[in-house]
Amino acid sequence: MKTYANKSNAKRAAIKAIVAERGVEEAEVKANADQYFAIEGDKDNGFYPHYKTERVGVSEEKEKQLKAEREFDEQYIEKFGTAHCPHCNVHLENGAWTFDEALEEHLDPKSSAFPEMFTHEFLCLGCGEEFGEERELPVKGEGIKIEKDRPEQNGIVRPSAGGKCRAIWDFCDELNEKGVMPMPKLLKEAAREKGWNENNAVIEMYQWRKFHGIVGRQNTSK
Ligand SMILES: [Zn+2]
Repeated sequence: MKTYANKSNAKRAAIKAIVAERGVEEAEVKANADQYFAIEGDKDNGFYPHYKTERVGVSEEKEKQLKAEREFDEQYIEKFGTAHCPHCNVHLENGAWTFDEALEEHLDPKSSAFPEMFTHEFLCLGCGEEFGEERELPVKGEGIKIEKDRPEQNGIVRPSAGGKCRAIWDFCDELNEKGVMPMPKLLKEAAREKGWNENNAVIEMYQWRKFHGIVGRQNTSK
């Protein structure tokens, strides 16, 4: 066994050993405190470091810091199921949104139609990626009253009959008559079925909405 001429050298050796063995950044030893470490030996025979391996040699300060971090993370884990974005690994403290928060904004008459891009439970504002379960906006409603035969409204001209654009508008009309608000997801599905260009279908859907003065909140219910 390696011995040291004085207590402080033995203590230093013990700290080094604990750090190496435990893979921790720092360790604290307390001579004869039976907590982290005990130096054994005597002046004549030299001191040797002895520590109890069942007690992890992480300093109290470090322990406190780790505990505080865990507690801080808990609120995010409770809300988002994780404290870090599963895509970019940024801490969600950086900014994250839940579907329900977005929906609430969405239903607020003063807000924009932004949450339509939401398809999952959570959104990381760091990378813009979503995670969690898939979610859908509520689409059932009463349908807005449509005045037929108005070729121009809100600066938008209704496409003429027979064209592809008009077919998309007619599809939006049909949805609305069923009390379903035309949503990007629905238009993309229809586009795949009917052979429309998906982006065009969504653009026309927004034209249709603008024509009818819909800013995204009407015709949706919780
Ligand atoms: Zn992210």
